Amino acid sequence: MFAGMAHAASPYRLFDLALVRLCELTHSLSRLTFHGPDVSQMATHAPDQRIKIFFPDAAGRPAALPDRPDWYAVYRAMPPQTRPVMRTYTIRHLRPQAGEVDIDFVLHGEAGPASRWAIRARPGDPVQFVAPNRAHVGEVGGYEWKPTTGTRHVLLIADETALPAVSGILESLAMQPSPPSTQAFIEVGDTDDIMDLPTWPQLDLAWLPRSQSTDGRPPMVAALHRARLPATKAAAATNALPDVDIESQILWDLAAPDDAGFYAWIAGEAASVLAIRHHLVTERGMDRRSLNLMGYWRRGRALADSL
Ligand SMILES: Cc1cc2nc3c(=O)[nH]c(=O)nc-3n(C[C@H](O)[C@H](O)[C@H](O)COP(=O)(O)OP(=O)(O)OC[C@H]3O[C@@H](n4cnc5c(N)ncnc54)[C@H](O)[C@@H]3O)c2cc1C
Repeated sequence: MFAGMAHAASPYRLFDLALVRLCELTHSLSRLTFHGPDVSQMATHAPDQRIKIFFPDAAGRPAALPDRPDWYAVYRAMPPQTRPVMRTYTIRHLRPQAGEVDIDFVLHGEAGPASRWAIRARPGDPVQFVAPNRAHVGEVGGYEWKPTTGTRHVLLIADETALPAVSGILESLAMQPSPPSTQAFIEVGDTDDIMDLPTWPQLDLAWLPRSQSTDGRPPMVAALHRARLPATKAAAATNALPDVDIESQILWDLAAPDDAGFYAWIAGEAASVLAIRHHLVTERGMDRRSLNLMGYWRRGRALADSL
């Protein structure tokens, strides 16, 4: 994810931060605001800009990776038992002048070290980020929301881990003079996880609480028959899907939009996203080049320390 690091104006760099504020957005989503002396040098390039966060150890000792181009080699060289926990999150807001950055954390319980840390976090607690470097000139990557100017129909499917990105995507679309027709399906735990999001006349937004699921399937999968899709089907020969073993690989299929007008951004639990991939491409003949399909987490497994 963060290939191609070099120093000074490298695409990504290490940032030392401390938690300054917490705000409960919904029952299971909390906004944590971090401050750091170098946040003025941080950048974000899209609403789904991903970063890595390093958390303190169980005794509260901060991660102390060096802000050097070889930080990842240093990290990998540490014995696994002393390596700081590293997880992927989305920059929700960046306020460089105030030196602040917001991350929205899903509080899914104590089983994951990141969620456990966020549940217990207090102002002053230290973290480190690997995030885009404002001083870098050129493309940095680390985001997939890349609709073309010809996009007139957007499909968004997400669970709560991708809700921070989808909130930002909807905000950016709502600000357009003529926003595209957009259908959004957002799976959450319960009705108290529903939050206010921007709206416009051509936005069809459906909240899908798991608590109301009736057939045992993840609601983002069960709702697919309601997805409005373009009539044009892809030629089967160009649309073959490679197998992805979600127990050992990260599902990360990226769109290569050709200005055909339709663009989909889909992220969440990997088995759900895999089922959506099968439905859209194999059963309904959607051109896979219009689809971003991203496994943000895998039920029963920690997606630990890969970039
Ligand atoms: C590009 C990208 C952007 C992301 N952005 C965000 C973000 O902005 N906010 C956010 O909260 N998450 C985000 N995630 C998801 C987050 O990285 C994972 O949920 C991560 O596993 C959390 O780490 P953990 O230490 O809490 O749990 P882990 O140690 O990774 O997992 C421990 C256990 O918890 C389970 N688990 C993990 N996540 C969840 C969950 N959400 N609900 C229920 N069980 C879970 C795992 O299956 C495992 O059994 C993003 C992921 C990616 C790839």
